Amino acid sequence: MKTPLTAPPVLELENVSVLYSIRQGLFGARKPLTAVNEVSLSLARGEVLGVVGESGCGKSTLARILLGLEAPTTGRVTVDGEPIGAQNRRLLARRIQPIFQDPYSSLNPRKSIRDIVSLPLRVHRIGDSASQEKAVRDILDVVGLPSRVLNSYPNQMSGGQRQRVAIARALIMRPEIVICDEPTSALDVSVQSQILNLLADLRREFGLTYLFISHNLAVVEHLATRVAVMYLGRIVEEAPVDELFEQPRHPYTKALLASVLTPDPSLGIPETDLGAAYPNPIDPPSGCHFHPRCAQVMERCSRVAPRPLIADGRRIECHLYDTGGAAPGLPGSSLPKSNPAKSNPAKSNPAENASPHGAAAT
Ligand code: ADP
Ligand code: MG
Repeated sequence: MKTPLTAPPVLELENVSVLYSIRQGLFGARKPLTAVNEVSLSLARGEVLGVVGESGCGKSTLARILLGLEAPTTGRVTVDGEPIGAQNRRLLARRIQPIFQDPYSSLNPRKSIRDIVSLPLRVHRIGDSASQEKAVRDILDVVGLPSRVLNSYPNQMSGGQRQRVAIARALIMRPEIVICDEPTSALDVSVQSQILNLLADLRREFGLTYLFISHNLAVVEHLATRVAVMYLGRIVEEAPVDELFEQPRHPYTKALLASVLTPDPSLGIPETDLGAAYPNPIDPPSGCHFHPRCAQVMERCSRVAPRPLIADGRRIECHLYDTGGAAPGLPGSSLPKSNPAKSNPAKSNPAENASPHGAAAT
């Protein structure tokens, strides 16, 4: 499962922020909402990067950015080193495909499965109708659907079958990268593992690279090679999957992990035992955004936003691991832009730097 750390990134985000302008109430003033807050991530060819965090932390916004569906407010997104905005949209769609949470709303209810799955080939004018028919039959077979579903409609299928159709449609153009946004969250628990196994098989068969988004840490465990934990628009911890599960460091990761280690893992949706409610992103807590819910909160956490650090080969933003001095870098790490001193210059004394978090910090 492991990818060599030296593999060049195929998809890269550098200091990406997404701000929305939100009006509160009918006549309220507009306020900025930072959905994604200076996120840097890189995806190496063949790896599976899991992105995990509670609902509203910015995961789907990140997915839209990576699909080129939305431009970041600031920061850079590159595909093979080229800015995503400069790429031909049709070519980009051939290389990067999405699989979304709800296959029912992403599949046109009035089209047959044949029409739905063959649409990308028709849009991109690939092959004649005979070869398109063969390609559809082949890909349905690959995702475990019998060819008799060709003339069915989405409402005649189960949730799991519909997600298989959505996967077939995503893969028919043989993309390199698949952005999976909660692909199993709308499915029954028994079906979830079948779809996860299918995604794992397809990755091996087609040499795919995945960005795999879930609110549930347990879902990414078996598929991901690396996991980024997101909280209120920021990546607060990022590590290879085994290390993250064996030794979570950030108090938020620990809480997420504790929540999935329930006596009955089939319960599906994790209950986070985090006390205070998830904060309103329009009005994020001061200092470390996680501090009101943190089990290990310290005095400075409410005052000073933690700076990004590299500690023990993982990226983390938490005062517990900041021993002061210059932020340590990690030579040769695949962790993206792992020189925090570069992206956040002059942070030698964090107490004197109120916030490296840009717009969302108070
Ligand atoms: P997640 O997928 O993790 O649940 P989202 O990326 O959907 O999170 O949303 C992150 C934050 O951005 C939320 O507070 C959400 O309300 C806000 N948001 C997302 N899309 C928009 C939009 N188009 N306009 C305004 N706010 C948005
Ligand atoms: Mg979402």
